Amino acid sequence: MDVRHLLLTFVVLTHGLTTVMWWAAGTWLGLSRKAALHWLVASLANGLALTCMVLNDGQPGTTLVLITGVLVTFGVISLRRGLQAFLKLSHTDSSHFLLASGTALFSLAVCIPFGWRASGIIGSSSVIAWVLLRTAIECFEPLKTEFQAGIAWTHSGLLLTAMTLFTGLALTELGSATPWHWVQGDFEQTQFVLVIVSLILSILSAFVLGYIVVTRLVRRLEHLSHHDALTGLLNRRAFELLLDREAQRLQRFGQPFTVLMVDIDHFKRINDRLGHAGGDAVLRAVSQTLQAHARGVDRVARVGGEEFSVLLPQTLHEGAGLAAERLRQAISQINIPWADESITVTISTGVATANDSLEALPSLLRRADDALYQAKAEGRNKVVSAPDQQAACA
Ligand code: GH3
Ligand code: MG
Ligand code: MG
Repeated sequence: MDVRHLLLTFVVLTHGLTTVMWWAAGTWLGLSRKAALHWLVASLANGLALTCMVLNDGQPGTTLVLITGVLVTFGVISLRRGLQAFLKLSHTDSSHFLLASGTALFSLAVCIPFGWRASGIIGSSSVIAWVLLRTAIECFEPLKTEFQAGIAWTHSGLLLTAMTLFTGLALTELGSATPWHWVQGDFEQTQFVLVIVSLILSILSAFVLGYIVVTRLVRRLEHLSHHDALTGLLNRRAFELLLDREAQRLQRFGQPFTVLMVDIDHFKRINDRLGHAGGDAVLRAVSQTLQAHARGVDRVARVGGEEFSVLLPQTLHEGAGLAAERLRQAISQINIPWADESITVTISTGVATANDSLEALPSLLRRADDALYQAKAEGRNKVVSAPDQQAACA
């Protein structure tokens, strides 16, 4: 097996694999669907372009060289469109259409028939270098913000390296008096170096794209495992973890905290009258109001169907009672639009403060629950504070 066959096998294997990977991601797995399908096209176009480069035995091989240029142009445009979709940047489809169709027409319909090898290479290389430069610039900040600076630098670095390569190609074709005249030396050697460098850039680029897709997925899953899908508030699991940490602070540093147990009054009636969707709208509105009126350091969670908990760190009974009263009033004042109606709701709240490091969490939550039931029993739309743990024991 000679070098050409070895390269061809490697190109087909790597690009076949990345194409299948993006196809699976965009269809079966539904991962960044739109971006994955653009990257599938990019991988396919780059794979075909590299295959043409390997198959081209030179001297002068104008047709294959110019087809390669068009394929790479399609590849980099698809890469950029995928990144624009993934990072939710404004798309530049009309300029892409002009660049892609212009390059294809010029290379295939003009340069091939007239044998203008140099003009074709200069044309497509310039377009490719320009698209790569624009992509590197526009993706840098969004990648740095969402992922890390390292990813943004690596990604832009890869694109700029590729850009330099294509600028060099265009300059080489412009004349031998360029610093790139070595490229015109040994044709086989040139081709080999070009294929290897392009292959490495292509593989690294697929690796970076795969990394950002998986990182975003992992972050989403992490978020889902700690948040309630309907309201976006923390869920019971996350709230219990926070409570645990707060209980440890109380044990270690003696910092007290308070838990509010909040339950919407007569929610079944709301559900029966408005239907489940109306009930959900009420739940969302109540969640937003609780979140908006809690302090920045307080944590609001949905711990059951229409039950919420609020954790108030470093807060004693009196302050917590005031905070709970503020939340109760805020909820009683909201008007929730539903169909042609404006719905109002009230909440009942039980307040329990943890200031005894010997009290276990279940006991604290039971005290808050008992206070909540008392608020319900006393007519609802009310805040009731549980007696202190010591007082309760006494
Ligand atoms: P009370 O004043 O005593 O709290 O009366 P209530 O009607 O609110 O009584 P309860 O707490 O038992 O009712 C909870 C209802 O919440 C029962 C269930 O149908 C409804 N529910 C639970 N989860 C959801 C949800 O995700 N969406 C909607 N729309 N309703 C839910
Ligand atoms: Mg309830
Ligand atoms: Mg209720």
